[in-house]
Amino acid sequence: MNIALDFDDVCTDTHAYKYAAFQSRLGHGNFEYVSRTTLVDAGHLTISEYKAIQTEIYCDVEGSLDRLKFKSDCVTSIKNLIAAGHTVSIVTARDGIPLDIARMLLEREGLDLTTIGVGYGNSKTEALKDFDVFIDDDPTHLVDLLGTGKRLYIMSTSENMQFEHPEIKRVNNWQEFFEEITSIEA
Ligand SMILES: [Mg+2]
Repeated sequence: MNIALDFDDVCTDTHAYKYAAFQSRLGHGNFEYVSRTTLVDAGHLTISEYKAIQTEIYCDVEGSLDRLKFKSDCVTSIKNLIAAGHTVSIVTARDGIPLDIARMLLEREGLDLTTIGVGYGNSKTEALKDFDVFIDDDPTHLVDLLGTGKRLYIMSTSENMQFEHPEIKRVNNWQEFFEEITSIEA
């Protein structure tokens, strides 16, 4: 099968990386989650400060190489999927420097994957037209693909737990996702 993976918070623990970066810049961790709502609406930052820090974090090559970690079992599972004959690619909103960083991180793990960056705020639908399976943590990208016949999965994050859809299967970690894909073949 032709499998497409979102990068941030599917392959990597991006939220943990972002949380630590915002915490160190703000000098406190009086917020549970890094989002516009928890930081801007709660009065910790202005929207332009929030956006500036967000850009800085995503473009931070050294910080990312040092502190942006793959989720457990992600790298091994990707290698096992490839070994089982599947094609695995990345379809991410990242572009420019953040996309280069994603490629560096993958290469460092010995993963030579096709990485497609659509740019922040853009739809992934066109980039995903030739794929059979797609997993993302952002419900918006998944909902866009309903009715296309693809197998859709949502990777759980603390932000998306309220989301439910009968045609989008929730997985909580890489072990579960790997088992799902393996069970399709069986
Ligand atoms: Mg994501």
